[in-house]
Amino acid sequence: MARLDTLPAPPAANAEPRRKGVPADPQKFAVDVRASRIDGRGAFAAEAMPARRKIGEIRGESVSVREARRRAKTMERIMIVEVSHTRAIDASGSTDPLRFTNHSCQPNAVLRIRQGRVEFYAMRDIAVGEEITVNYGETHHEGKLRCRCGAPGCVGAI
Ligand SMILES: [Zn+2]
Repeated sequence: MARLDTLPAPPAANAEPRRKGVPADPQKFAVDVRASRIDGRGAFAAEAMPARRKIGEIRGESVSVREARRRAKTMERIMIVEVSHTRAIDASGSTDPLRFTNHSCQPNAVLRIRQGRVEFYAMRDIAVGEEITVNYGETHHEGKLRCRCGAPGCVGAI
């Protein structure tokens, strides 16, 4: 007879069976979207996130960089990430909460592009309720947008 601690966990009542070929949800930690002190809405840690762990990804429509730049001109809030010299992800229609991640000059997370995927990793331990931020690096704003991250050493523009 199997010992209790070796029995597989019973499936959750509404758990969908994993279908072959369907990628697992890339969201690894719970993230809330709510009003941000930095700008508009932001992504906030809904659970503690240890340093160096993957937080999640933003997925979206794969478009050419040329098309992405055309779209960016018509958007008030840009949700486009260039993933290579030729391809970009437009996350406007995405429901992934990390698409609301704001820029900070002293971020607690880092954005990594890996094989066309837009991944977020914790740079340090992130506590429940902290806003998740990354350094956007170069943006289409070309330094013309005032940075309101409020961090000591803020470079003032993104
Ligand atoms: Zn700043």
